[in-house]
Amino acid sequence: MSDKTPQDPLDQLPKQFKDLLRSGPFANAFAAGPTPAGAGTGETKTDSDDEAHQVVLEMIRNFNLRPREIRDHLDRFVIQQREAKKVLSVAICDHYNHVRRCLEDPELREQDYAKQNILLLGPTGVGKTYLMRCIARLIGVPFVRADATKFSETGYMGGDVEDLVRDLVKAANGDVELAQYGIIYIDEIDKIAQSANGAGGRDVSGRGVQINLLKLMEETDVALASQTDIAAQMQAMMDLQRGGKTRKRTVNTRHILFIVSGAFDRLATTVKKRVQSASIGFAANPEGDDRPDSDYLQHAQSRDIIDYGMEPEFVGRLPVRVACQSLTADDLQEILTTSEGSILQQYRADFAGYKIDFDISPAAVTEVAKRAQQENTGARGLMTVLEQTFRNFKFELPSTSIRSFKIDADTVGDPDRALRALLAANASDQREVLRAEVQAFAARFHESHGFKLDFAEDAITALIELSLERDKTIRALCEERFHDFHHGLTLLAKDDPAASFAIDAQVVADPEQALSCWVVERFRAAPVAKTTAPEEPTESDEKPS
Ligand code: ADP
Repeated sequence: MSDKTPQDPLDQLPKQFKDLLRSGPFANAFAAGPTPAGAGTGETKTDSDDEAHQVVLEMIRNFNLRPREIRDHLDRFVIQQREAKKVLSVAICDHYNHVRRCLEDPELREQDYAKQNILLLGPTGVGKTYLMRCIARLIGVPFVRADATKFSETGYMGGDVEDLVRDLVKAANGDVELAQYGIIYIDEIDKIAQSANGAGGRDVSGRGVQINLLKLMEETDVALASQTDIAAQMQAMMDLQRGGKTRKRTVNTRHILFIVSGAFDRLATTVKKRVQSASIGFAANPEGDDRPDSDYLQHAQSRDIIDYGMEPEFVGRLPVRVACQSLTADDLQEILTTSEGSILQQYRADFAGYKIDFDISPAAVTEVAKRAQQENTGARGLMTVLEQTFRNFKFELPSTSIRSFKIDADTVGDPDRALRALLAANASDQREVLRAEVQAFAARFHESHGFKLDFAEDAITALIELSLERDKTIRALCEERFHDFHHGLTLLAKDDPAASFAIDAQVVADPEQALSCWVVERFRAAPVAKTTAPEEPTESDEKPS
C-alpha cells in the first residue's frame, strides 16, 4: 500500500497563486487533483491522456484516405479552388502515409524524407485557411494557425517562432508524439518578406523570422518549456521535485507539416505584367484582361517570390506551391447556397436560438453575392453584407412575437425599410407581447420580494405607451420605475410579507409619490388593506395592523 496520497503540486503555494494557475491559460497545466493533466507543457502523463493518445495514433495508423476522397470532403465546404484542393489532398495523403510508415517502423523515422511543405498563394478570404481547417478536422491531427506578422511585431526575433510548436503540443492536449505529426499553418507570410528591393515586406526583421522558421521547417528540437512561460517552468520544476513520470522535454519538428500562405499582392501585378508582355505577338491574351491581378499568382515562379523578398532557402523548403483563385459573384452565390459551412447557416442558427426562422429568396441571394463581391474581400464580403442586412432584424425581432420573416432583394437593398414594414404589420400583436412582459415583471417581483403587484388595465396601457414612445423595453421601464419599491413595501407590509398592491396608471406615472402616500396613510394608523387590493382575504386582513 502506498504510504501517502500524492500531493497537489500547488499546495505549497499561496492561495492567490493557486487560483491564478488554475484559471485562464494555465487551467490545463494546473488542473486541481493529485496528478496534474499534462496539457500545458505536456510534461506529465495521465491515464486518460494515454487513452486519447492511443486513439489518435490509431487514427493515423489507420489513415487510408485517397486524395480524391479528401477532395470530395473539401468540396462539401469549400467552393472552387480545384487546384488547391488537388494539391493539398495529395500532399496530405503523402505526409500521413509517411507518418504511418514511421509509426510502424521507427527506423524509417531517422531516414531522409523530403517533406511536402506547401506555399498557398491567393487573395484574402478565398478559403486558404478554411481548406486547412477542413483537412485538419477530417484527419483529426493537431493543427495550429498563426500570422507570421506576430513574430516580428512583438519584437522577438529568435525563439518566439518556436511557440508555434509548443502551441501544437497544447493542441495535441500535451501529447508530444502526436504534436510531432501535426500541421502548422502560417498566414500572412508575405508580410515578412524583407524590403531589400522595396518589393514587398516592411523591414529587415522579416529576414530573421524567415531564418528561424526555416530551421523549424527543416528539423530542430524545440524545448517544451519556453523561457518566458512561467507556468511551464514551474511545472517542470515541480515534476523534477516529485521525481514523477515525465515525458520527453523537446519536440522534434522533422515530421511536422508546414503550410504557409500569403496574398502577395504586388507580386500578382508583377507576374501579370510579365505574362501579358510574353503573350504580345500571340493572337489574343488567353487570360483576358478583366481578371483580377491575383489570378496571375498561379504563374508565379520561385524567382518572383525570392525577388519579392523571401529568402531563397525559405522558398526552397516549400516545394509544393499552389494559388487560390479570387471568387466571382457566382462563386459567392454558390457558397451561400451549397457550402455546408456557409455563413448563412450560422445566421439560421442564431435566429433559431429565439425560435425565429427566415426565408431568403433566390433574388436576395444573388443581391447579397453581388454586393459582397464589390467589397473585394472574397467570401468575407458575404459576412459584411449579411451583417448589414440582418443587423437590425437581429436586434429587434427577438423582443417581438414574430417567428418568421422573408428576405428578398429589396430587403438587402434597404433592410431598415423592410424591418419597419414588418414591425408595423405586427404592431397589434406587439402590444400583447408587451402586456405579457408587464406580467412577467410582476412575477419576477413577486419571486424576488414576496409582494404581489396587481397591474390595473390603465397601468398596463400606460407602460405599453411609454415603452413604445421611449423605445425602451418593459423590463427596463419597470425596473427604472419600481427600483427600490420593495423597500417601501416592506415598511408597509412588515406584518404581511405576502401582501398585494394595486398598481394603477397614477402609480406608474409617479411611483415614489404613490409610495409616500401609502406610507403616510399607513402611519396614520389606516389599515394597510386600504392601500392594497388583495384579490382574496389574506391572513393580514384578519390581523389588526
Ligand atoms: P483566407 O483565404 O484569407 O485564409 P479564409 O479561409 O479564412 O480566407 O476565409 C474566411 C471565411 O470565408 C471562411 O471561414 C469561410 O467561411 C468563407 N470562405 C472563404 N472562401 C471560401 C470558399 N472558397 N468556399 C466556401 N467558403 C469560403
